[in-house]
Amino acid sequence: MTSDTMTSDSMTKAEQSSSQNSATPILPGSTLGVLGGGQLGRMFCVAARTMGYRVVVLDPDPFCGAGLIADVHIKAEYTDQAALSEMAEQCDAITLEFENIPSDSVRFIADKTTVFPVAESLEIAQNRDLEKQFALKAGLQPVPYFAIVQESDLQQAADEIGFPAILKSNTLGYDGKGQFVINDFSQLTEAYNVAGKVDCVLEKQITIRCEVSAIVARNTHGELASFPVSENQHRNGVLHLSIVPARVDEAVAQLAVEGASILAEAMSYVGILAVEFFVSEEGILYFNEMAPRPHNSGHYTKDACVTSQFEQQVRMMCGLKPGDTRLMSPVVMVNMLGDLWLPDWQDIFAQNNIKLHLYGKTEARPGRKMGHFNVLAEDVVSALETAEGVFNALSE
Ligand code: ADP
Ligand code: MG
Repeated sequence: MTSDTMTSDSMTKAEQSSSQNSATPILPGSTLGVLGGGQLGRMFCVAARTMGYRVVVLDPDPFCGAGLIADVHIKAEYTDQAALSEMAEQCDAITLEFENIPSDSVRFIADKTTVFPVAESLEIAQNRDLEKQFALKAGLQPVPYFAIVQESDLQQAADEIGFPAILKSNTLGYDGKGQFVINDFSQLTEAYNVAGKVDCVLEKQITIRCEVSAIVARNTHGELASFPVSENQHRNGVLHLSIVPARVDEAVAQLAVEGASILAEAMSYVGILAVEFFVSEEGILYFNEMAPRPHNSGHYTKDACVTSQFEQQVRMMCGLKPGDTRLMSPVVMVNMLGDLWLPDWQDIFAQNNIKLHLYGKTEARPGRKMGHFNVLAEDVVSALETAEGVFNALSE
């Protein structure tokens, strides 16, 4: 069949939706899908439904937080081709909430409907070595590191990076999991064994003045928008709170946004891209890692920006213009982990400038992200004071 004779009836759904996506936006009333039903998937579902879309979530967990909000919850593994086909059949466009969705599954559905981000972007962000190489090539500066692919690499890694260092598995790490602080060669060998001799990176442990993240959005037309940079404090490798505006020099914030934008452009990325950076004691901005999805450090946008990162995710996958990312109020976002459960809700509701967000998780486990709250105030000093006061009260 020539393209002249190809009618919309004879086009596959992928052809229809990709031509739709570059020309005609996907509008309310259409159905959007999300792979993964944790809190990020849930907040995507809320945003999409608020905007008038139907939503389908695919997640094997029958009790996942997004499943409770979606129109349809397909309870299946991410590799289940029948389930992926069923999802693609129902959806005009599909996105994902975490980067460890197998890229082959994304390729599989990309033959049937529109999927953003694409498998190639996902594969870069899934692998610490690949994402650092990519960032380096794009002109960003990763922390000095050495890629370990076999045991005999350990000595050279130690010689080049020195100690203290951090050993990180190349794939599947999150919230500090799969990481080891290393002070000497015997610890390096031991950690490499504990990690199961998988591919790793050995990174120089740097003295961090502060951590920041930049979240950008890019659509199929190449239009880019960036959210205000967030300053992030971690505890035990897990994000504890985010402060916006970040208390860094304007030039540093600018560099972080530019870095994230360069990466999005270099990948011809479509969707939300979050990039984590370290600011060293010397004021150097180091690239740490990227996430091809909304990010915990962007939850402040839900209450403090004109457009939230989740609405922006919907806009990007639908070929719509990016929404206004303007910050309407200084804000501090605090994560609520399962360590403190159940909290005394009155500690939160007694404050008139706190917005609470819970993820619908019934089982609380230490370290598990159960929800967050955003404190909006005249300036970050008073937002931080309230945030810390409330967090401490919750911890008592
Ligand atoms: P994850 O995928 O678990 O978020 P990260 O690489 O972002 O992994 O590490 C989690 C946290 O550990 C960082 O936010 C930072 O606080 C700390 N960290 C990671 N790498 C380094 C490093 N090279 N030097 C100092 N601190 C680090
Ligand atoms: Mg991180």
